[in-house]
Amino acid sequence: MRATIIHGAGDIRVETVPDPEILEPTDALVRVVTACICGSDLWPYRSMAPSEEGNRIGHEFIGIIEDIGADVAGFEAGDLVVAPFVWSDGTCDFCEEGLQTSCRHGGMWARNGIDGGQGEAVRVPQAQGTLVKLPVGADSALMPSLLSLSDVFPTGYHCARTAGVSPRTTVTVIGDGAVGLSAVLSAKRLGAERIILMGHHKDRTDLGRELGATDVVAERGEEGIERARELTGGDGTHTVLECVGLVEAIETAFAVVRDGGTVSRVGAPQYGDVPMPFPVFLRNVTLTGGVAPARAYIPELLPDVLEGRTEPGKVFDLTVGLDDIADGYRAMADRTALKVLVRP
Ligand SMILES: [Zn+2]
Repeated sequence: MRATIIHGAGDIRVETVPDPEILEPTDALVRVVTACICGSDLWPYRSMAPSEEGNRIGHEFIGIIEDIGADVAGFEAGDLVVAPFVWSDGTCDFCEEGLQTSCRHGGMWARNGIDGGQGEAVRVPQAQGTLVKLPVGADSALMPSLLSLSDVFPTGYHCARTAGVSPRTTVTVIGDGAVGLSAVLSAKRLGAERIILMGHHKDRTDLGRELGATDVVAERGEEGIERARELTGGDGTHTVLECVGLVEAIETAFAVVRDGGTVSRVGAPQYGDVPMPFPVFLRNVTLTGGVAPARAYIPELLPDVLEGRTEPGKVFDLTVGLDDIADGYRAMADRTALKVLVRP
């Protein structure tokens, strides 16, 4: 089959790889219908050292089950399924606590011999715990929103949930990428009435307003911090959703959170030490967030998507075929595309 291989920074190729097959009785074989490129795929795309062998890549996909292991119950060939960005057994203590990203028998796509999502097919380990059946056809107009359940929507939702967003909290979202906009949508879903979006790409912040942002701060650095605080009478907001992952973003988060408030971060941190010095300590700020257990949130978010109450798929603004996936990476890296959908 054909699958995407990253060979280094800026070097994305589609190559022929071994066809996946059922290896364990807990596996399913899924033919990919649609996949996408994640903001986190851009980190290796910008920085990976050249590699002859390369790595498989991609961790968000919807597909159709083609074959199924003997121990997988509740699914059959022909089912349309969405995969969260981490696979998990669904039965261990962490999974039962809703922390499938820490599953004792789980793992990541595109690592350690596991297929990536940006290819024609995937062997899904722990299929019963991992996959969620979608009660629509593969030609459904809801596909972009359903695909967002793999990662970007639950990640934004995790950020809002762990921050404790509610109708009583004001919110600042840092970052106008697909995760930031999903966090706006999630804060709105949790009842927040005041949502300040910090971002400087006007087309993206316009979409942010459509998804629920009440104010936009386009200024950057100190000016942006001042503007965000000004909007809240100088105090900052109860919750801050940091959806970038750079040290400047987390510093901004601490600067615009209200005393006693909570900062949640879901942008994969590209820094080692969290800048939480004594002045932040004095303000009783809580830091939370982390990798989102998407599998835990899919059952909660799916009905809203199916019934059209929420349209997280609006973050997709470019579709490419698998053979043109390098163009999709380039478009996202150049910020000419917000999020790219891939059709094998
Ligand atoms: Zn588990």
